[in-house]
Amino acid sequence: MRIFDPHIHMTSRTTDDYERMRAAGVLAVVEPAFWLGQPRTSPASFADYFDGLLGWEPYRAAQFGVVHHCTIALNPKEANDPRLQGVLDLLPRYLAKDRVVAVGEVGYDEITPAEDEALTRQLALAVEHGLPVLVHTPHRDKAAGTRRTIDVVRESGLPPERVLIDHLNEMTVGMVADSGCWMGFSVYPDTKMDVDRMVTILGEHGLDRVLVNSAADWGRSDPLKTRAVGDAMLAAGFSEADVDTVLWANPVAFYGQSGRLDLSSIPAELTTAELTTAHVTTAATAAVAAGGDYAGNTVLRGSPA
Ligand SMILES: [Zn+2]
Repeated sequence: MRIFDPHIHMTSRTTDDYERMRAAGVLAVVEPAFWLGQPRTSPASFADYFDGLLGWEPYRAAQFGVVHHCTIALNPKEANDPRLQGVLDLLPRYLAKDRVVAVGEVGYDEITPAEDEALTRQLALAVEHGLPVLVHTPHRDKAAGTRRTIDVVRESGLPPERVLIDHLNEMTVGMVADSGCWMGFSVYPDTKMDVDRMVTILGEHGLDRVLVNSAADWGRSDPLKTRAVGDAMLAAGFSEADVDTVLWANPVAFYGQSGRLDLSSIPAELTTAELTTAHVTTAATAAVAAGGDYAGNTVLRGSPA
């Protein structure tokens, strides 16, 4: 099984996670820029964070044989802090970079005027840069928040096929399906969406325009939930081709619209093989050799590289 996790915050995860993910078949990830828990107090903190998403984290991922891309944005929660308005001015510089495959996460948290302004400006940036957009839906008042999100996206003039609306559930999937946007589901250990409900939704709504992610971050979450959905799909009678559509082809098609998705470092035979020590050694050696700024900084500490 080959897996592309289209929404996971690897900066918050450990090397054990990278090892387990790669062994489970996760070959590629997209890490959206988000809220770090600790509020940031100046745009400069965002610049360092964005640089990490474009530099250090893909370098670290490569040492475990995982290809890493990111999305860049001012997240909805911090859009409410007037000290961070300058982040919006930083974005054009970052949205031009090679490994940025979408604008995101944008959207609503508390649905305030400041969030409206940040969302509208960032949707306009996506239009200007020809990029897809990853839109987060609020956890409270989800149906109304999702409805409003769809309306704002429509007004932006972005084609719906370039928009992924994430963190959906049974209540919101129908309206997003009707909108023509892509449907994202975050599968968590306890709350929101779980594996069995996810498989039921796939049975009811089909596989078209559906993405499944773990959204794993610094909170209770599980980076292997994508694999768990694949296994549960097979157990429920879906074919291996169906699993490949949801866990690989769909995210590749969505982020591929950026023209920047580079999966060329994944050798063809690895797309089906399970992890071996040789694969990790090869990936790690290549990553260290290409290390640039990070040369000599071995994440693997004393192992192969
Ligand atoms: Zn997220």
